[in-house]
Amino acid sequence: MKVQIYQVVVLLDLCQIIYQNKPNQMRIFAIGRNYAEHIKELNNERPDEPVIFTKPDTAILRNNEPFYYPDFSKDIHHEVELVLRISKEGKNIQEKFASKYYDAIGAGIDFTARDLQQKAKEKGLPWDIAKGFNGSAPVSTRFIPVSDFKDLKDISFSLTINGELRQQGNTSLMLFNFDYIISYLSRFFTLRTGDLIFTGTPKGVGPVRIGDTLAAFIENEKLLEFDVR
Ligand code: MG
Repeated sequence: MKVQIYQVVVLLDLCQIIYQNKPNQMRIFAIGRNYAEHIKELNNERPDEPVIFTKPDTAILRNNEPFYYPDFSKDIHHEVELVLRISKEGKNIQEKFASKYYDAIGAGIDFTARDLQQKAKEKGLPWDIAKGFNGSAPVSTRFIPVSDFKDLKDISFSLTINGELRQQGNTSLMLFNFDYIISYLSRFFTLRTGDLIFTGTPKGVGPVRIGDTLAAFIENEKLLEFDVR
């Protein structure tokens, strides 16, 4: 078959249009204030509905890449969280069907520039720069299939820094469980395959320092380990 130059050009143009219109690979949603003891430690109000924020996909760190301490904050805090992976597109999902929309659970750190967040809170301003900056979402490469868990309402997870236990949580302590979170989020946002949801941090948040090694565990399995540089 003889292919004319103009046919190639048209094809290339078409590829470019498809590429440009391609939706982002994934989005990161996050739930704030989902564990009562953590709400207390930051003197926050207990919410009637989940507190939602998002991070751009540029916040993701994968493959245990190091986290580079940014120059705009002097108080970066760790928040270890369970992360749900969305496996099916949906919106307005009823809670009773929500479990069909996620298939695996990973570990992540919701890094927070607490100093910037505090300023924003005082002024009633959005949290984006405090929560969504580059590298603010390290996520485990491995996600554990939901079917591997005996009981989603009894999953333990934890964070160590330089081998020392700093945060420990269990899903039984969540104010809003996975299914409720999915249902609630999907009222506002279409959830798409590959999207991630950070489901909130237990008590014990605190600052990280250059030179620290953070490790996140689900039950006894280490899923994430990286350095702060
Ligand atoms: Mg958090």
